[in-house]
Amino acid sequence: MSAHEVDREAAVLEAVPTQLLVGGEWRDAEAGATFEVIDPSTGRVLCTVADASPADGVAALDAAVAAQADFAAMPPRERSDILTRAFELLHERIDDLALLMTLEMGKPLAEAKGEITYAAEFFRHFAGEATRISGGYQTAPAGGARFLIAKQPVGPCLLITPWNFPMAMGTRKIGPAIAAGCTSVIKPAHQTPLSMLALGQILIEAGLPEGVVNIVTAQRSGEVMEPLIRSGRARKLSFTGSTKVGKILLEQCADKVLRTSMELGGNAPFIVFEDADLDEAVSGALAAKMRNMGEACTAANRIYVHESVAEEFGQKLAEQMGGMPVGRGTEDGVRVGPLIDQAAQDKVTELVADAVDRGARVVTGGSAPEGEGYFFTPTVLTDVSREARMGSEEIFGPVAAITPFSTEEEVIAAANDTPYGLVAYVFTNDLRRSLRVAEALETGMVGLNQGVVSNPAAPFGGVKESGLGREGGDTGIEEFLETKYIGIALA
Ligand code: NAP
Repeated sequence: MSAHEVDREAAVLEAVPTQLLVGGEWRDAEAGATFEVIDPSTGRVLCTVADASPADGVAALDAAVAAQADFAAMPPRERSDILTRAFELLHERIDDLALLMTLEMGKPLAEAKGEITYAAEFFRHFAGEATRISGGYQTAPAGGARFLIAKQPVGPCLLITPWNFPMAMGTRKIGPAIAAGCTSVIKPAHQTPLSMLALGQILIEAGLPEGVVNIVTAQRSGEVMEPLIRSGRARKLSFTGSTKVGKILLEQCADKVLRTSMELGGNAPFIVFEDADLDEAVSGALAAKMRNMGEACTAANRIYVHESVAEEFGQKLAEQMGGMPVGRGTEDGVRVGPLIDQAAQDKVTELVADAVDRGARVVTGGSAPEGEGYFFTPTVLTDVSREARMGSEEIFGPVAAITPFSTEEEVIAAANDTPYGLVAYVFTNDLRRSLRVAEALETGMVGLNQGVVSNPAAPFGGVKESGLGREGGDTGIEEFLETKYIGIALA
């Protein structure tokens, strides 16, 4: 690294707040506790941030509760304007924000910029939605009475986000919460708190009133969040993360019957029929597999390719993936950064070994490179057995697992043979087949001849154990609104 690059990284880290955001003020955690943020490309410490205690969590919720009534009363246009200003600031600072994200999370700079753009779009989208919250007026079927249907903010919300998209998973919740008039306490993942803290600073500069968004960074997430969930003072939990943790949180929410939005794990099937444009399918698989180094809930986890084209598809995908430069995401030309931590690298290594033990062939890659950081070489496996662990577990790494199939019925049954149901991808040029298969797949989203479905203007979410509710699109704001019916007796 040049001296200039070292200085720039230091300056970006220096500029980000590292305290808790509570009631509009940055403050230390109880007893000055902190924890370390690690650069996954080196394993070295980047900085330390405040480590909230349960009492700090309560203080953050106190601030959110105190701010709720005034914020709900703020004119929608003003809430919209705040989101628009935050959208603009995200773009003005995109270079620094992208560098910060790459440092804490590892993804290459170009992908980090892509995520900031995606994240900002949620603010732009919900800035519009804020001014379009509508209701209804209806005559009762028997006549006489009238129904007035009003939408009101749910109330204070708890928002919990994962490390893989440290900014976008936040704005996808904060955007609609602000648009709807809800205050919140947000807890980012301990691996990637910095992007959220930088976002907090931007929201303050954009004019968000104090206490509307409170940020709690913590290592002991369960200890800090459970009392807040169980208190019943927050009226909603919106969570993005693993299905395992989502289930624990759903149980905690049951006690006080909190509204919940759950964006959980996936096990996406990627299906290539014999009539597909093979090059298009390879590009789609590359996008669906390699976005975020494979660390995405939407990542193509099981790639089913018709037996007549499976070999050719595997070779073409291997040529592309084998040629992707691996390295620190800050370096020019790097397309594959490190995995998030040692545990992630170990898990991907184990899953590949398991698949190979069960007969998979390694076409390219297959192991973690020597040296510092948590890298894994882009890997293509063919003839992966349906019994391999990676058929039922999220790989969350740059490993494409190809399994040949012979009939449409067989592949639909295999695709649906999972408790997950977030997204599926289908490549075919047969219109009837594409609609038939898209309808038969048990998922919340289908990418038809495309490898990326995420779009702030579309309803994102899963069925089965992949979650509850939708984020983005027209429905995203509904998750933060209650419907109130007022019955009116006319004389
Ligand atoms: P995770 O371990 O479930 O953690 C997600 C968040 O929950 C983190 O902020 C984590 O904090 C927090 N958390 C963990 N245990 C908790 C508890 N007992 N109480 C309260 N909060 C708790 O998931 P992850 O490893 O960060 O993220 C990867 C997972 O997210 C994958 O399964 C992926 O598929 C899923 N994901 C889903 C979507 C979607 O839209 N469906 C999008 C992105 C990711 P700490 O890390 O600080 O403990």
